[in-house]
Amino acid sequence: MKTGSDVRNAPEKQRSATPRAAGARGNETAAQAPAVLPPLPWAEDALAPVISARTIEFHYGKHHKKYVDTLNELVAGTDLASESLEAIVLATAGDAEKKAIFNNAAQAWNHAFYWRSLKPGGGGQPGGELARRLKSAFGGFDTFKRAFADAAIKQFGSGWAWLVLDDEELKVRSTSDAELPLTSGEIPLLTIDVWEHAYYLDYQNLRPDYVNAVIDKLLNWDFAAENLELA
Ligand code: FE
Repeated sequence: MKTGSDVRNAPEKQRSATPRAAGARGNETAAQAPAVLPPLPWAEDALAPVISARTIEFHYGKHHKKYVDTLNELVAGTDLASESLEAIVLATAGDAEKKAIFNNAAQAWNHAFYWRSLKPGGGGQPGGELARRLKSAFGGFDTFKRAFADAAIKQFGSGWAWLVLDDEELKVRSTSDAELPLTSGEIPLLTIDVWEHAYYLDYQNLRPDYVNAVIDKLLNWDFAAENLELA
């Protein structure tokens, strides 16, 4: 009996290892893809005039989409194809041979996180636990704001500025290119994309104007509070 049960379980186990391929339903490429382009949390023109609809159209519809599409091409037919985006990022970080997979997976993750870090009518100061922790870590909201803006403005070349939770303490970080705090065990709460494609159509080379406008008018503190609560 035991042997029979093991035999019956074996193929089931194999099938469950590729659930999306098994459920392809005529769209095999999409079904096998680990990454999808998530819908924007607001309309393309909802962040204007801070970020124009034209910028979002390119940034989301071309850049973000390209990262997702390229990732899916790169992992097609490999073990990574059935992994979550976060698992792919963590599995390929620091592996020179998988740099292209890491870059596209991380950028897909970063952009999904960035859209949720922004909202129409955002900005201002958070309340509650976030306010308490910002005061404890930075001495006050204005000091935090300067540190966050500095991280974004002074990041040399392409990259990201982050508010993270590290060992129960809020910290500001900046990362280059596709790098992200997940790989060093920090928990991201908010991010600002400082690649030129995020602001060039609206602000040309004036990154400080973009960064300050995003912090003052778009930061989604509700999203940061959710991330802090889940941490
Ligand atoms: Fe971007």
